[in-house]
Amino acid sequence: MQWETVIGLEIHVQLATDSKIFSGASTAYGANPNTQACAVDLGLPGVLPVLNKDAVRMAAMFGLAVGANVAERSVFDRKNYFYPDSPKGYQISQLEFPIVEHGTLDIVLGDGSRKTIGITRAHLEEDAGKSLHEEFPDSTGIDLNRCGTPLIEIVSEPDMRTAEEAVAYMKKIHSIVRYLGISDGNMQEGSFRCDANVSIRPKGQEEFGTRTETKNLNSFRFVERAINHEVERQIDVLEEGGRIVQETRLYDANKDETRSMRSKEEANDYRYFPDPDLLPVIIEPEFIEELRKQLPELPTEKIIRFKKDYDLSEYDAENLAMSKETAEYFEEVARVSKEKADSKALPKIYKLAANWVLGDLSAALHQDGLEIENSPVSASMLAGLLGRIEDNTISSKIAKEVFQAMWSGEGDVDVIIEAKGLKQITDSGEIEALVEQVVNDNPGQVEQYRSGKDKVFGFFVGQVMKLSKGKANPKQVNDLLKEKLK
Ligand code: ADP
Ligand code: MG
Repeated sequence: MQWETVIGLEIHVQLATDSKIFSGASTAYGANPNTQACAVDLGLPGVLPVLNKDAVRMAAMFGLAVGANVAERSVFDRKNYFYPDSPKGYQISQLEFPIVEHGTLDIVLGDGSRKTIGITRAHLEEDAGKSLHEEFPDSTGIDLNRCGTPLIEIVSEPDMRTAEEAVAYMKKIHSIVRYLGISDGNMQEGSFRCDANVSIRPKGQEEFGTRTETKNLNSFRFVERAINHEVERQIDVLEEGGRIVQETRLYDANKDETRSMRSKEEANDYRYFPDPDLLPVIIEPEFIEELRKQLPELPTEKIIRFKKDYDLSEYDAENLAMSKETAEYFEEVARVSKEKADSKALPKIYKLAANWVLGDLSAALHQDGLEIENSPVSASMLAGLLGRIEDNTISSKIAKEVFQAMWSGEGDVDVIIEAKGLKQITDSGEIEALVEQVVNDNPGQVEQYRSGKDKVFGFFVGQVMKLSKGKANPKQVNDLLKEKLK
């Protein structure tokens, strides 16, 4: 039997407001436990929540960015359940009238294909506190600092069919909220987390299968793994004649498996009702128009512009534009190059810039656990390096060595080339002498080559490059060797 996977994601994004959604307490991360929970966050009797306008603004911005409808009227509801880290006994959320509905998002997959994913809704709600189990052997610690932190919950349509699509969607949402500046998107700190709804159905069947929901996935890798595990598990269950139980599951990153938390039968009855302490949120059309004007250039527009202005491939443009900071770095390399280099050289430099930013630079950042804003090799330093590749002062291979030296703080490109004597040999007389030496030293291989063994050619190139300590211009070496061996 061929199975098809169906995935819908619910993503919780913490909004970057200074204060809580219904109180003036700070939202700063990392404070001592229970120092940032005021009477409103604790739900003490007699207090009244007051809505934070900034949270409304940020939710509306998100709606505009995904082409959704931003509701002129939305309503806060109480979602009732008991949990130790939720002192009120309910969470303020939006059920029937969310602030954002009916958006879409385009994703690009590894093979270059595009797909549009529907966004059902995004609603405003408050976060709960945190239960701490590790520090206390016989009891549970409660930290209520996070109570009342503003969130938007973004609910997708069940439009995704593979873990790859789900990850691409999640990354795109992450990118957009960072572009908009409405969230820091920090996954370690819980500012961006995802619940994955997964079901399978026989290929060709229209009706959806029963789904499970795996909660609180806080990295792209965990989402991918949790989905793949869940799909395999569901296939095993169905192929052994069992049935899937609709339930909430938990992904254990240490054991790399999902397991059951609670089934639908044990699910809470939330007894939603409109919160009597809060008026409906009315948004004037002028407010929306004002926000629309403030929207920054978003990834989709940036990709189009990058392809046009720098003649980049779809793949390069997509990957550079994914992070706002990476895109800014790339454009700074391009800007500096434009100032310094010959205009005829620019197309090649732009392509090199894309390769280096997505390749060597990105690998070095990853290795040292650094963000691009803190890169030891600045955009203008990289532009300097690319200029020296383009004008043939150094080969691409030597450039990697220079880059490493720049990374360890040995100075700018020209300083390093000079200090290490890495300048490329382009003097054809000098290269010819090396070629001659290699040909004379290896009569056996010359014999083989001349009797038709073309493969030996690589051997000669290697020998000449070795003799020149990697500094001979590779193209000239190739040309002169061919000439000599004829
Ligand atoms: P609930 O209110 O129980 O959370 P929703 O209808 O809001 O349920 O759906 C939650 C998420 O589950 C949405 O992202 C939706 O796309 C997804 N979903 C719904 N049905 C399925 C299914 N059969 N398989 C996979 N995902 C599904
Ligand atoms: Mg839900």
